[in-house]
Amino acid sequence: MPEPHILVLGAGPAGAATAIGLRRLGYPVTVVSDWRRFAAVEGVSPRVLDGLRHAGLGEALAEAAVPATRQVRWSGQHSHLNQEFLLDRQRFDRALRDDLARAGVTLVQGRVREVAHVGGHEVRLEDGQLLRGRFLVEARGRQAPLAADRLRGPETVSLLNLWHGEPGDPASAVESLDDGWAWMARLADGRCYWQVTLDAERLPGKAALPGYCAERRSTSALVAELFDQRALEAAQVHARSSTAILAGECVGDDWLRVGDAAMAVDPLSGNGIFQSLSSALQAPVVINTLLRRPERAGLAKQFHQQRIEQLFLRFARLGRDFYIQELTRVGQPFWARRQGWPDNQPMHQAAAWQTVQVARRPVLRDGLVDEAEVVVTADQPLGIWHLQGVELAPVVRGLLGGGSIDAVLHERPREQQFMLRRWLAEQGYR
Ligand SMILES: Cc1cc2nc3c(=O)[nH]c(=O)nc-3n(C[C@H](O)[C@H](O)[C@H](O)COP(=O)(O)OP(=O)(O)OC[C@H]3O[C@@H](n4cnc5c(N)ncnc54)[C@H](O)[C@@H]3O)c2cc1C
Repeated sequence: MPEPHILVLGAGPAGAATAIGLRRLGYPVTVVSDWRRFAAVEGVSPRVLDGLRHAGLGEALAEAAVPATRQVRWSGQHSHLNQEFLLDRQRFDRALRDDLARAGVTLVQGRVREVAHVGGHEVRLEDGQLLRGRFLVEARGRQAPLAADRLRGPETVSLLNLWHGEPGDPASAVESLDDGWAWMARLADGRCYWQVTLDAERLPGKAALPGYCAERRSTSALVAELFDQRALEAAQVHARSSTAILAGECVGDDWLRVGDAAMAVDPLSGNGIFQSLSSALQAPVVINTLLRRPERAGLAKQFHQQRIEQLFLRFARLGRDFYIQELTRVGQPFWARRQGWPDNQPMHQAAAWQTVQVARRPVLRDGLVDEAEVVVTADQPLGIWHLQGVELAPVVRGLLGGGSIDAVLHERPREQQFMLRRWLAEQGYR
């Protein structure tokens, strides 16, 4: 039987990582994507670089990431933080395509105009081409059409300004403002970026934006430090929505959403690429299960949907905690709106042994979604299956059944006992 053909819409990090994962599982994959239409630079941490390498996107990295020194002015404090890597998104996106070609993925360049679900999927491009696939991956980022959203943060816009200044060492900086925050970067070749993020409803009209942004730069000490006089002139401006959005449904029997198309986070957390990779790394196994084991479709869909929702909430709360750190602007509307969204729950729930349970949940086993007994805690509602290769459910079941810790662990090697005792103590077991 021929392998079912998979179409991936969008060749950003999420689409590329999903396509490469699917190729590794042996599927024929076609990625359809338009080029990014504007120049942008984004900041990423070393953790993101590791994630990109792990996803088979090492070439893209080597091409596009440069280390930069970083300054932060937040809540009245000024600090020089270690390092941030600056990613030239146009170069990065070009190099992602080279990684895709090397992995044996077919790449079609073009703009998707229409997607029809007709016992399979038909994708029509603006140039008239028609592509067919058995399974569809929606990875067009924030441009992916959205039928409904499940959760949406305060409406936010980022104004990205680009101009050329003197060449110099790569550097970046971030600062809080009364009505938002600004991120800025200078590349070695003199390209300069300044991006201000504000409430969407407080902006002047489009024609006035370059002058408005230049005026705002003139009041910033960090701008004066990082850039030369050209920073005070009106520059090219590109407006992007940066509202945090969780899509209503992220998976069906023969389609799935990944990356920003499934959940787009606030850029303040600086984790967009990381979260888009996180959702893409699990996708090939979910798709493999939907295609090969349709009887497990419910389990596979539950796995994808719940993980997307959990990731979204985690990153939304992480963003909120950055807003909360800005103590000097608590009363300002921009900050007040974001310091309590999405909720007031802590990033991590306190450990409490009485909440620890054993339950059946979807897990990933041998390239498929399967069901297994896992340990559910207040902080890990989706469950923990293994701890460094050791299944936790039998241990917790033994303790909940009234066994003493010595009796439950006695046949296990010493190092394992030590690790399990430590983990149990962290869960509040006494
Ligand atoms: C203002 C702002 C600042 C950000 N700063 C950072 C940062 O500093 N660090 C960070 O890690 N993340 C940052 N992000 C987030 C990051 O850009 C995204 O999370 C990440 O790129 C999402 O990857 P993706 O693959 O899901 O989508 P994308 O990277 O958006 O890729 C989608 C692809 O689909 C293509 N496409 C779209 N529509 C069509 C169509 N109709 N037909 C064909 N192709 C199409 C696009 O051309 C693109 O190639 C920022 C986001 C915003 C909005």
